[in-house]
Amino acid sequence: MNVLVVNAGSSSLKYELYDMDAEQSLARGLCERVGDEGANIEQETHDGREYEAEVAMPDHSVAFGQAMAALSGDEAGVIDSLAAIDAVGHRVVHGGEEFASSVVINDAVEDAVDRFGQLAPLHNPPNLMGIRAARKLLPNVPHVAVFDTAFHQTMPPHAFIYGLPWEMYAENGIRRYGFHGTSHRYVALRAEQYLRERGIPDEEHRIVTCHLGNGCSMTAVKAGVSIDNTLGFTPLEGLLMGTRCGDLDPAIVIYLAQTLGMGLGEIDNTLNKESGLKGLSGISNDMRDLQKAANEGNDRARLAMDLFAYRVRKYIGAYAAAMGGVNCVVLTGGIGENDHLQRKWCVQDLEFLGIEVDPAKNTHPLPFDDGITAIGTDASPTHLLVIRTDEELMIARDTVEVLTATA
Ligand code: ADP
Repeated sequence: MNVLVVNAGSSSLKYELYDMDAEQSLARGLCERVGDEGANIEQETHDGREYEAEVAMPDHSVAFGQAMAALSGDEAGVIDSLAAIDAVGHRVVHGGEEFASSVVINDAVEDAVDRFGQLAPLHNPPNLMGIRAARKLLPNVPHVAVFDTAFHQTMPPHAFIYGLPWEMYAENGIRRYGFHGTSHRYVALRAEQYLRERGIPDEEHRIVTCHLGNGCSMTAVKAGVSIDNTLGFTPLEGLLMGTRCGDLDPAIVIYLAQTLGMGLGEIDNTLNKESGLKGLSGISNDMRDLQKAANEGNDRARLAMDLFAYRVRKYIGAYAAAMGGVNCVVLTGGIGENDHLQRKWCVQDLEFLGIEVDPAKNTHPLPFDDGITAIGTDASPTHLLVIRTDEELMIARDTVEVLTATA
């Protein structure tokens, strides 16, 4: 079965085509600056062929058409025609409280994705544009929605309710939803298998998964289910991120408005796009740039790096407490997978939780035997793993699973 995975952002469309009988990616591509001047498409096949073109893409529908033309085109095509695509899996950021797992998309699901656009105005509307464009061009194959929030629907009320008047939850749906669920679920499943192979029974699994990329979040996964996630009502709470502030006293927002006279749009932009590593360092949202600057003596870059690691450490402790212990910590995402210094700092002084990095194993780059490297010392009882995340593969697997279950 060939499954196309689609991830539509506000001005981008990412796609990857899998042969799921072999679990092999055939090609992946990216349309950028959709709806803007200078839009372009890039595609790469599993055997290294490449296609790149500047094409006008006024909307997601045109971008999707370009992607499909590239997949079946001469330069880097991998299929003869669109008839070779058997199903489509769509990344959808917000599924509210309605979706605890992936579902086949029908008009009612489309309406729900539209409705939850109120809760995720930056993400669900473009996700929906991707769904509509794909359903229009591929109307005869099933489409499946895979939600970032779904994995976290197992959180207990004491983890997802805020200390606000009850009606704000009951009537307005203001609660922690948690995000990055597809990545957390993928690495948690791999970590569970790892623990199982070492004789630790499922009911004893207490895993903290740390997704450290541009967006960052952590999940407490107890006996296979998410019981807490650092992202909240929106993907702004918790860890320090590339451009997002993470945890903040909410009174700061009032102060910014009342005392500093900032408008709501300006505050929104500051907290989401001008804060985090970028805002603190004044340099960049990319950890590599901060490392370079810190090495050259830039104190603010160094502070941003310290603050980043401190929050991860703090939440590992918090989630160990939430789960009554921890026997595995997983690091993933661009920073988790590539940055040996942050890996060291993020778990520093956590020997009391049985966590200790082995410097000889925490190399750069990591060997990644089948996507996993253990970097803890042999003596430390808590397994410390770096796992390469693969959200696209998870979406493709879910698509096959949902369709098999409903066949
Ligand atoms: P996204 O959340 O957008 O999917 P990624 O998971 O790809 O992002 O992570 C991107 C981040 O990973 C970059 O901003 C950068 O800070 C970090 N990163 C990537 N490679 C390295 C590296 N070699 N060393 C340090 N940081 C890295």
